[in-house]
Amino acid sequence: MSPAAGVAGRIAGTVRADIRELAAYPVAHAEGCIKLDAMECPYELPPQVRDDIARAVRDTPLNRYPAADLSALRQAVKTAFGVPEAAGLLFGNGSDELIHLIVQACCNPGEAVLSPWPSFVYFDMAARFDHARFVGVPLTADLELDLPAMLVAIEAHQPKVVFLAVPNNPTGGLWPDDAIAAIIAAAPGLVVLDEAYQPFTDATWMPRVLDAPNVLVMRTVSKIGLAGLRFGYLAGHPDWIAELDKVRPPYNLDVLTQAALTAVLRHKPVLDEQAARLRADREPLAAALAALPGVRVFPSAGNFLLVRFSGKLDGNAVHQALKTRKILIRNFSNAHPLLADCLRISVGAPAENAALLCALQEILSA
Ligand code: PMP
Repeated sequence: MSPAAGVAGRIAGTVRADIRELAAYPVAHAEGCIKLDAMECPYELPPQVRDDIARAVRDTPLNRYPAADLSALRQAVKTAFGVPEAAGLLFGNGSDELIHLIVQACCNPGEAVLSPWPSFVYFDMAARFDHARFVGVPLTADLELDLPAMLVAIEAHQPKVVFLAVPNNPTGGLWPDDAIAAIIAAAPGLVVLDEAYQPFTDATWMPRVLDAPNVLVMRTVSKIGLAGLRFGYLAGHPDWIAELDKVRPPYNLDVLTQAALTAVLRHKPVLDEQAARLRADREPLAAALAALPGVRVFPSAGNFLLVRFSGKLDGNAVHQALKTRKILIRNFSNAHPLLADCLRISVGAPAENAALLCALQEILSA
């Protein structure tokens, strides 16, 4: 028998059964497509900012591990993003990594990680990978937070960690402040407010991050024009941050990311302006989509819209028809019963939004 012939058997006997059953996180091939599937910012940074990044990267030595002292970057992040001076900060290779670190540090095998559901799929994935038990508390039929159900589930499952994506992905909903406060008060462990889409709304928990003993606020730069960098940050009481820092892989933030980020943060208004443009374009796009036959648009505080198709074509058919026209959006039709026939559309540049609307008009009137 060739060595290769034995691989399947060894994998079956070695890799966890639950991992073997999973599919890897889907990332679509996007060459030549209008890409509205991943809530990226469609705008490239202006030449002057790119020149500054290029200089910073060129002057960064690669022969040494990243420095231990990240206090300069920490201060720059605090200033740029309104993190309270007294808060501690943990940096991650994307906020995906921070989600892992939180679960790893907090959960013994089988202990609960809880989130309203549907929400960011990686809360569930990270919990499973890290041997925790994921509890998803269904949203209402209108995709709003079900606070009574959340409080019952918190009481029943005593979660070590509650993740609240505010605004929520993939629905776009913004959970009310008093509901968040009630969850924080009821949770026996940590509540992580994932503010990945905060740049597209005024709401934030950041100024209050130190007000309760069990809250952390997590953010990312991925949605404000820097998804290629892989940088997320977690803010909270320095003692919480010190505990989570113990499970961080050494040198998780590479020197090129640090250099590029430091250079970009000197141009923070450019990032703000890009986010403001997407925010301003969200409602006109929502109105144009809602005017199409058989289309329901859910209210969104993010840089994306969740849309339900209930006309002649179902969500799968619309998704496929757009794909044929080289327009990529994300299909949630089969992801959860509450998301039946739902597609998620990133707000793109004006020409991309126009192309999407034109294609949908054609598809839905065919
Ligand atoms: N949180 C939420 C709610 C998200 O939607 C995403 C990305 N889709 C992330 C976190 C992860 O962001 P990143 O790893 O790019 O920082």
